[in-house]
Amino acid sequence: MERWVEETLHRGFRVRLKADRVLFDSETEHQRLIIFDNADFGRVMMLDNIVQVTTADEFVYHEMMSHVPLFAHGRARKALIVGGGDGGVLREALKHPELEQVTLCEIDQGVIDLCRAHFPGVSAGAYDDPRARVVIADGTKFVAGTGDRFDVIMVDSTDPIGPGAVLFTREFYADCRRCLAPGGLLVTQNGLPFLQASELAQSVGYFRGLFGDAFAYLATTPSYFGGPISFGWATDNAKLRHHKRRKIERRYANAGGFPTRYWRPDVHVAAFALPNYIRELVEPS
Ligand code: SAM
Repeated sequence: MERWVEETLHRGFRVRLKADRVLFDSETEHQRLIIFDNADFGRVMMLDNIVQVTTADEFVYHEMMSHVPLFAHGRARKALIVGGGDGGVLREALKHPELEQVTLCEIDQGVIDLCRAHFPGVSAGAYDDPRARVVIADGTKFVAGTGDRFDVIMVDSTDPIGPGAVLFTREFYADCRRCLAPGGLLVTQNGLPFLQASELAQSVGYFRGLFGDAFAYLATTPSYFGGPISFGWATDNAKLRHHKRRKIERRYANAGGFPTRYWRPDVHVAAFALPNYIRELVEPS
């Protein structure tokens, strides 16, 4: 019998993906997790009925969540990923040779274990990199308590439901700010502006009260249905999002010019060009 898995994120529309083969379908310690194969998106993982990662298009989100802040910063030595249990952002971040350590704080060990087993190509050995440090904890508790300082923090969270809800609060962002080294940069998974406008506006509003520069950048991830996905941007160094393409090209060459499929220097610069309906969410009226 055919099985279709429905995404239930939005109030007025739902997407169904055909599950040609279900590899896992159960509860982890924190959330409902299903992994299945699909003819168009490859292998798919959903958490609490929301698409998180697909092997067909994960490169888009993982490259843009990592290379934009790391090449914008230019001198990151220590980075923190909050969430990101599938290991895709960790894989991409570790391509930056200047990084000495990347800490990944994931609340759900089950996500890491199941993704290592069923999506080996996503983490692609990143968890075994000597520079990788995994902490199993709620990201809010980690940033509230750590004495570490990070040059870049990437919040690769679920949407603001279930365990991910606390990662969209002012308190969490304030603690992230406390954990940033001088000149540091925070980026966040901030949903689809076309369908989750208030989520982006609220996060960037919190950033404006905490940082000197608050903005967003975009990418187009086919499996996040409903338009471009936004990444929140928060830093005290307003220059970081205004680098010219040539500077990003130099930094990319110095990092070894590793192969990418979505991020590239001109895409990096263009990602900050927000259409008006999104710009009005991130700029004070
Ligand atoms: N790329 C995906 C997206 O844009 O929706 C996110 C991928 S990743 C799988 C999201 C991760 O955030 C999950 O592994 C989930 O367990 C983790 N997570 C949710 N709430 C968390 C929290 N409070 N602290 C740390 N990790 C959390």
